[in-house]
Amino acid sequence: METRNTIQKQTILQAVKELANHPTAEQVYEKVVVKLPNISRATVYRNLSNMADRGLLQRIGVPGGADHYDHTLQVHYHVLCTHCGALEDIWLEKPAKNLMELANEKSTFSIQSYQLVFNGVCPCCEAKQRKENPIQ
Ligand SMILES: [Zn+2]
Ligand SMILES: [Zn+2]
Repeated sequence: METRNTIQKQTILQAVKELANHPTAEQVYEKVVVKLPNISRATVYRNLSNMADRGLLQRIGVPGGADHYDHTLQVHYHVLCTHCGALEDIWLEKPAKNLMELANEKSTFSIQSYQLVFNGVCPCCEAKQRKENPIQ
């Protein structure tokens, strides 16, 4: 039995997978609304947030920007282009597991998770910069 909620959830999850490159909630909404014209923006946002809380999606918080969602659940990291906001995966050989232990030793807080986003310039923006400043 497929309830309306189940169909909504499946469509949202599918949209995150199809968009592939870490869409924001807004981008997911724009894709989902094509298939489910009656769905509200709030429903998409709420479902994404719930699925991230339940570990079905990864939420990537970007300081000063909208959260991004990732359907890849294995431990990996992200690099953010500080010019255009593009987000890309970084797969490191050894996940920095010790980072949490180290942080726990130094902090009075009981640390439960962490987010690590590298900042950089994507190849597209770098090429553009070179054109604008050929001397550098
Ligand atoms: Zn860029
Ligand atoms: Zn990712």
